[in-house]
Amino acid sequence: MREIQIGGLVSFTTIDYPGKLAAVLFLVGCPLRCAYCSNPHLITPAPGEYDPELVFDWLKSRIGRLEAVVFSGGEALMHGDALIEYMRRVRELGFNIGLHTNGFYPNVLRRAESVIDWVGLDYKATRARYHELVGNDVAYDLMSGSLDFLVESGMDFEVRITCDPRYITKSDLMEIITDLHNRGVKTVAIQKYIPHHEDGQTPTTAADRDQFFNDDELRNKITRLIPSVIWRNS
Ligand code: SF4
Repeated sequence: MREIQIGGLVSFTTIDYPGKLAAVLFLVGCPLRCAYCSNPHLITPAPGEYDPELVFDWLKSRIGRLEAVVFSGGEALMHGDALIEYMRRVRELGFNIGLHTNGFYPNVLRRAESVIDWVGLDYKATRARYHELVGNDVAYDLMSGSLDFLVESGMDFEVRITCDPRYITKSDLMEIITDLHNRGVKTVAIQKYIPHHEDGQTPTTAADRDQFFNDDELRNKITRLIPSVIWRNS
């Protein structure tokens, strides 16, 4: 079986797995090309910088110090069964397993259900604007299939919306929130877009980026529809 490819590692974080001290492994490769990608060095498949077995040995040394390991990317599920097997081994060490995903691989997510304890799923834009943002015309439907699976399975998850004002308006945000409400989603994180690098597009202003967070009427409408809303504005 081929190995997973790890291109980055955060050894300690309190914000990437709800309520738990975690490490984050960033896996190489992603099928999308989001305009605002903060990890462009990870999206093209290439040999990982970190030997998975050395990372596994390091995780063993973290038993009792960390509570969870989060698999992020890139898109971790791109690694298929190699990822599922690695997650299973890490979980057997006693860690909770988290996954950050763009939802492009609903069938792999389904197969991985028994080794994942919590999922953060990106819902990046309205259906109408998904392709424009991610550069892939089947990404919305695949993400939607992953979301349906998460709701049906009863897995612990949050849906994450990054509010890049170039790709989401307040009205778009309400369209997404209404869809999530109709599907019965319980937890949504609304995340501020933070510019990470020159992406060659129109720059955003602080006021553009803050507009989703300082509009009390919008916030009230959202909190009436979703039981648990996390506002990540920094
Ligand atoms: S899904 Fe994530 S890693 Fe992939 S291109 Fe988009 S932002 Fe980058």
